[in-house]
Amino acid sequence: MRRSHPLIAALVGSILLILIPFSLTAQTPQTGAEVPRAIRRDVPMTNAIRRAHEAGTRDLTGRPGPNYWQLQADYTINVRLDPATQTLTGTETVVVHNNSPQALNDIYLRLDHNIFRARAPLAAPWTPAENTDGIVVTSLSVGGEAVDLAPAAGRGRGRGGAPAGPRRSSVSGLTTTVARIVLSTPVAAKGRATLEIGWRTKLPGGPGSGHRMTQRLEDSLFQPTQWYPRIAKYDDLRGWDTSPYLGPSEFYNNFGRFDVRIDVPGGWIVSGTGVLQNPQQVLTARARERLAKVLDSDDVITIVGDDEVGPGQATAPGDRLVWHFAADLVNDFAWATARKYTWKATRATVPGKGPIPIHMVHLPERANLFTNAGPVTRHAIEFYSKLWAPYPFPQLTLQDGPSAGMEYPMVINSNQSAADHEAAHQWWPMMVGTNETWYGWMDEGFDQYMNILSGADARGTAPVLNGLGQQYGQTSGNEAEPPMMWNANFGGPMYSFQTYRKTPLMLSMLGGIVGDENVQRAISEYAKVWAFKHPSPWDYMFFMNNALKQDLNWFWHAWLFTTDAVHGRIERVTTAGTRTTVIVRQDGQMPSPVILRVRFADTGPAITPMPNAKVEGNSALVTWPVDVWFDGRRAFEAVLDFGGRTITSIQLDPACRFPDRDASDNNWPSGPAACTG
Ligand SMILES: [Zn+2]
Repeated sequence: MRRSHPLIAALVGSILLILIPFSLTAQTPQTGAEVPRAIRRDVPMTNAIRRAHEAGTRDLTGRPGPNYWQLQADYTINVRLDPATQTLTGTETVVVHNNSPQALNDIYLRLDHNIFRARAPLAAPWTPAENTDGIVVTSLSVGGEAVDLAPAAGRGRGRGGAPAGPRRSSVSGLTTTVARIVLSTPVAAKGRATLEIGWRTKLPGGPGSGHRMTQRLEDSLFQPTQWYPRIAKYDDLRGWDTSPYLGPSEFYNNFGRFDVRIDVPGGWIVSGTGVLQNPQQVLTARARERLAKVLDSDDVITIVGDDEVGPGQATAPGDRLVWHFAADLVNDFAWATARKYTWKATRATVPGKGPIPIHMVHLPERANLFTNAGPVTRHAIEFYSKLWAPYPFPQLTLQDGPSAGMEYPMVINSNQSAADHEAAHQWWPMMVGTNETWYGWMDEGFDQYMNILSGADARGTAPVLNGLGQQYGQTSGNEAEPPMMWNANFGGPMYSFQTYRKTPLMLSMLGGIVGDENVQRAISEYAKVWAFKHPSPWDYMFFMNNALKQDLNWFWHAWLFTTDAVHGRIERVTTAGTRTTVIVRQDGQMPSPVILRVRFADTGPAITPMPNAKVEGNSALVTWPVDVWFDGRRAFEAVLDFGGRTITSIQLDPACRFPDRDASDNNWPSGPAACTG
């Protein structure tokens, strides 16, 4: 090779340096693991949340903003059950309190039973047990003005040059799950509107697929849910919630008062949301005496026994009886009735509040599914009351029937098997009114996390949260997984992972950063601040940041808006003098703090502590904050200096809290290691 002048060589070299990488990048795209990592440290603000912040209804504190408002809808419902036709016929008066600063030009109604109509859109695999006519609205008026349910085409438009008459209210979409009433007179800001609605709906029976798709057993047991015309949610984020009801995703409702009269055959027991207002008229003296003893002990008391059947025995005498329930502040009303229900009751003791009744109604032949239901539900109410906030309602009822595994205010359609999970829903979405249609993780996901804690408490053991966060590394990268912030209403193959299973993994990682007790304390404060209100996911994220006194937006972004994982590993360990250098790599897009469990030889120089280490006997837990990754590096030099005591092993992420596809490369010397914390 011929030597050239050094200046020319340098010049040629720098030209090559410019040219070669350029031509390489043009021809060979690099993978994410090879380029500096871009870590997003804020959360995406959509137009909806941006508008709310501008309006002062929500803000970066994560608490309701100074201008926060929500609609209230108060219902008075009279409903009659005809077992022969399996039909409910009802009339209702709804007072809509428009607490928003805008006039309402329209009102949307939720008609969920239209999901039972033939060819109604459904998110697979939800299938109604039976196709019906859906919920048939037979009359409708707003503010005393009757709304034409079947307007003739063109009427009221001043056809033929005739002057148009006064504008009339109109309704559309009555055969879908979301109907729209266009009002002739808007509901003024801070004003109210009264709707009168007549309707009927047949309850579907038989073997459906998916929750709420079957609501009766022949003509002897009825479990109506989402059964009456409801006012859709109107909020500061998106205005009217016009999401169709497709099956899997549940609801997003207004809070309000319910006053409900349920007319059923004599002898049929009725249970439901709220408190029974007329026990003198519908119960026997014997049942009332037994009920009076429920709060005295943890015993399970029979209110109506297997052998007490029919009018005068199971209930007060009479051909038909009207059961009157009232609930002060709830976001829905569900009930059940059967020709022969056995009714048992016990109590739960709510801290700071005292005992409340737990009611259980079940078919006599299914008593074995309820033997533990009382104690399990009592434990749930008492445990979750201490964990988050005292149980806010005056009772809780378990209802037996074909539509099992579903929750409503003060009502769970469940036997003992799902009692803990369904009882947990009384905190979300019954108390904290999240938008379950879009963001199922904000209640199903929290619920799953709570069940881990409650289950451990019931067994008298510590909850196992180690390992959960790491598990997500197995799922990350699956193209079928939607990020948790994606609207969950349309279901999909990973609906249950998105809404149920991922949240405990996320909260496991959060606990690995700030401590599980701090996570739980912060969520408890969040629950109290948002009780009977409607937090958005952003409110949750910002509230947690403030409660935990850390900017965790990098964490929320990665977990809620992406499907990324950490994929950490120990690349190399070298020792020189007293210093041991550990090269830690993260190949995924999600960053995490660097946490190392360092174990020492039994003897040697004294272990001198490092400022970022907790020394416990012959081992130390050493932590570097997530910030070490914010400059985009993928390899971090963790320098250990404990004064020269020989290090025998090092484990990265010893509590297994950070999503990692392959944890076997987290140890030095290499090999498997248990999640020890
Ligand atoms: Zn659930």
